[in-house]
Amino acid sequence: MNKTNIVLEKGRCPHCRLNLCDGEIINIWAKLLDGVTVPVQLSTTVGDYTVKSESPIHDQEKLTILCPYCGCSLHKEEEGVINQNKCELVDVKIVGDSYGKYTLEFLSDMGQQGTILKKNGIEVYHKGKDYERAFGEVHANNETDKMYTDIRG
Ligand SMILES: [Zn+2]
Repeated sequence: MNKTNIVLEKGRCPHCRLNLCDGEIINIWAKLLDGVTVPVQLSTTVGDYTVKSESPIHDQEKLTILCPYCGCSLHKEEEGVINQNKCELVDVKIVGDSYGKYTLEFLSDMGQQGTILKKNGIEVYHKGKDYERAFGEVHANNETDKMYTDIRG
């Protein structure tokens, strides 16, 4: 697959709607098991699971991901229940793509790799080795690539 990377230009908190992307990083806060909240930087490149933080974050550590601006949880609410494993950004804009209303869902546990990009609730792209465990139904990559290409036009 020699398609160019999918890179976020903007991704907003579902609560305060502020953009958490700044250049090549996504700024979030992570509340660790001991209750301490630390700033964390994620990559805006979908599928790059590099995590940067001044505090050590252990692999598989259960984190609560928060918006650095309003302090609200970025965890996804599904049928009235907060999903401890999944987070989301809304009104996502992809570099080189004029549509600005994608939703990006990603796993909150460090070391877990799964990301899904949705348009109007429908998956258009996914990445990550833990994708299947996280999101269940799996489309072939070329299939979602095609959907994504169709949408990009
Ligand atoms: Zn917010």
